[in-house]
Amino acid sequence: MATEQTFSIIKPNAMKKNAIGSIIAKFEENGLKIAGAKLTQLSQAQAEEFYAEHKERPFFGELVTFMTSAPVMLMCLSGENAIMRNREIMGATNPAEAADGTIRKLYGDSMGENAVHGSDSPESAKRELGLFFTDSEICNA
Ligand code: ADP
Ligand code: MG
Repeated sequence: MATEQTFSIIKPNAMKKNAIGSIIAKFEENGLKIAGAKLTQLSQAQAEEFYAEHKERPFFGELVTFMTSAPVMLMCLSGENAIMRNREIMGATNPAEAADGTIRKLYGDSMGENAVHGSDSPESAKRELGLFFTDSEICNA
């Protein structure tokens, strides 16, 4: 299995719960490393570009409003099979359906306010990391 990089966001609702440390602990306990990190508040243009694949969906406006409502933490996670491993640590999109112990089960509030984002494929990981990180901001120690 190859070492991969994936893109993660701690969303505004989890930031408001003061859960950065608890969420990062989940990644680390499950074999992922933090290879890049920054705190920022997304602009409307950044959130719209990031979620462009969903722009025709009925929840798009609400999603952009939520994602720009407060600071977020953007991360590059690295490790063996990091993309799918992160999706497992996160849990299902709907927190009500997420497995016990997953981040979305613990910190998600609703389908929209589900605590974390994680890339779903190598192509999306590359695109999403490229939107927010330069090569020199990612450390593969
Ligand atoms: P995931 O984040 O698990 O990859 P999607 O890519 O399908 O899920 O959706 C992107 C984000 O859009 C979700 O994480 C969630 O914040 C929001 N979202 C998805 N479906 C809905 C919905 N039916 N109502 C409100 N928000 C939604
Ligand atoms: Mg997705």
